[in-house]
Amino acid sequence: MKLCRYDGDRVGVVQGDVMHDVTRCLEDLPSMRYPFPQHDQFIARLPDLMPKIVAAAATGVTKPLDQVRLDLPVVNPGKIIAAPVNYSKHLDEVRDQADLNHGNESHMRHIREIGLFLKANSSLIGPSEAVRIGRPDRRNDHEIELAVVIGKAGKDIEPEEALSYVAGYAIGLDMTVRGPEDRSFRKSLDTYTVLGPWMVTAEELPDPSALDLVLTVNGEMRQKANTRDLVLSVPELIAMASSFYTLHPGDLILTGTPEGVAPVEPGDVMQATIERIGTMTVPVIG
Ligand code: MN
Repeated sequence: MKLCRYDGDRVGVVQGDVMHDVTRCLEDLPSMRYPFPQHDQFIARLPDLMPKIVAAAATGVTKPLDQVRLDLPVVNPGKIIAAPVNYSKHLDEVRDQADLNHGNESHMRHIREIGLFLKANSSLIGPSEAVRIGRPDRRNDHEIELAVVIGKAGKDIEPEEALSYVAGYAIGLDMTVRGPEDRSFRKSLDTYTVLGPWMVTAEELPDPSALDLVLTVNGEMRQKANTRDLVLSVPELIAMASSFYTLHPGDLILTGTPEGVAPVEPGDVMQATIERIGTMTVPVIG
């Protein structure tokens, strides 16, 4: 199932070129008062909501997909975890290009040595928004990544069990200011994390280990790869992340970008596609 949010606070199921409204499933979410839990309520309750979503999709209002504005599919992730240099050819290009490594030794080491990093939640935008270049004095790069949405809480998850903790998948853009600073600083500007165009639930995409990824800028091919070339697989990333911190429903894991990273400028249009998920078109503005 392709689950989206659209036109403000509405929820939909996407089938082909059509969107089925299932917003009434939100009535079953618990009402809340402060202090709020630090995880995404919709993702946490998704298994309970699913029968109502299926029923609503069969009977609810439908709209052509091109007549809705798609919004962020996961609104309240507790944290955004990201994998540095998780494709070996990308590590090669970082080691080869001073523009990418800035002589910073930690930019050039293997993911097993440097571990993961966190991006600020305030950097997150949906698929109908634009990336606003926050440091025009620097090189700003695109990074297409498979994004994993965690479905249930877990700590010290074994790789063999890890995929059972996944709610679904989306396309992620891990936008990056190049420079010598720590990754979490350079990748956390407002709008520098894009998630969309919807979440494909794990039951529809049971195996994330062989998905084509393509990113074009102004129609020109920049990144083309397959998730089979991930250094650490999705299960291994979930195991690594949960060996340090508890994962919660709605937490996002950006699995790393393949080779082909390159700068974008205001006026550019990025189009990101991941097999079995979809395509999103994201403009870059100044
Ligand atoms: Mn990245």
